[in-house]
Amino acid sequence: MSNICKDAVTESHPMNGGDGTYSYTKNSYFQKSATNVARCMIHNAVADKLDISQLFSNFATSSSNTFRIADLGCSIGPNTFTAMQNVQEAIQHKYRLSQSRPHNSSSSSSLAMPEFQVFFNDHVTNDFNTLFSSLAASERPYFTAGVPGSFHGRLFPSSSLHFVHSSLALHWLSTMPKELVDENSPAWNRSKVHYTNAPNEVYKAYEAQFGRDMAQFLEARAIELVVGGLMVLIMPAVPNNVPLSQMPLGVIYGLLGCVLMDLSKEGFISESEVDSFNLPVYVVSPKEMIGIIERNGCFSIEIIELYKPMSSVNNGEITPLTVTMHLRAAMEGIIIKHFGTEIIDELFHRIHKKMEELSNQLQPRTKEGTQLFLVLKRKSS
Ligand code: SAH
Repeated sequence: MSNICKDAVTESHPMNGGDGTYSYTKNSYFQKSATNVARCMIHNAVADKLDISQLFSNFATSSSNTFRIADLGCSIGPNTFTAMQNVQEAIQHKYRLSQSRPHNSSSSSSLAMPEFQVFFNDHVTNDFNTLFSSLAASERPYFTAGVPGSFHGRLFPSSSLHFVHSSLALHWLSTMPKELVDENSPAWNRSKVHYTNAPNEVYKAYEAQFGRDMAQFLEARAIELVVGGLMVLIMPAVPNNVPLSQMPLGVIYGLLGCVLMDLSKEGFISESEVDSFNLPVYVVSPKEMIGIIERNGCFSIEIIELYKPMSSVNNGEITPLTVTMHLRAAMEGIIIKHFGTEIIDELFHRIHKKMEELSNQLQPRTKEGTQLFLVLKRKSS
């Protein structure tokens, strides 16, 4: 076997598994709200941009009529199940519409509704047991498979996917640039844990790493998606030319750094431990994403929209406590890996208190959205 399937060199930081107090399952309704808001957008994207006759014409000449969908960075559920249901329903709806048009002479008019297969992808360290248990517990109108590995490398055979979906996963970097922890580099990120409010060299190192990661992601998907196949990407984002420090996520990452520095001053951890810790997440702007996609050259940008993800979440649910719990479900693993378990309760207790003081800053300070909705189509060349 060629090394094509070898896992991409990547660090993994899975969300908290299981269904306990700090689990992702119990603390991911901000992400759930993103999925719910995206439902309509996905329906419209499939209705307007998916060329059913192009995709289904292959089925006429092949013995298989399987429509293959992948959710990349699916975590442990339940949001991935909702998202996959949305995608499947949108495609079925489009298919029925195309069948009901009497003048439709394309080959799709004589085909049965395809069977659907959904691939759930995440890092090998993801809690796939929790994901699979939920799948087993209920009937789903599609065949399923788990695909462990990094989406920064190849995961599927050539031209085997018709639809790729990824929600709130692509901001995770595959690795941290070495210069961030090099005392002799201008990008040494001393006493900070992110590029928010850090020197420009730090930001540049993150930006370059994100550019490399996205280039690899798009290269792999360009091989795996059939021509005409769609890719829906939902990502945390900043409006063009707005620094992350002005957005709630930037405030939260800055606050995490401050609390870790407080703990180092009080002797819970050493300052060098804080210096050598950096959150591997990058928040992109629409302009940057357009540049990266154009450099890859294999996809047309069908839709790009910055939107507000929270419109379906009750305002009452966004409290300092819920934000702290979400941060913990997502970041506890990576923090424990670096600092150990001893500080974890104290750290999040202090973060919660600080968030209460800063709660007015947890609202976006721009009128624009904080999430990017992208629909890309695999071009033919
Ligand atoms: N899409 C889900 C999960 C979002 S959490 C939802 O909307 O609820 C982000 C997920 O992306 C995590 O489970 C994390 O492990 C996964 N992830 C991050 N980098 C990844 C990579 N390189 N390859 C595969 N999965 C990755």
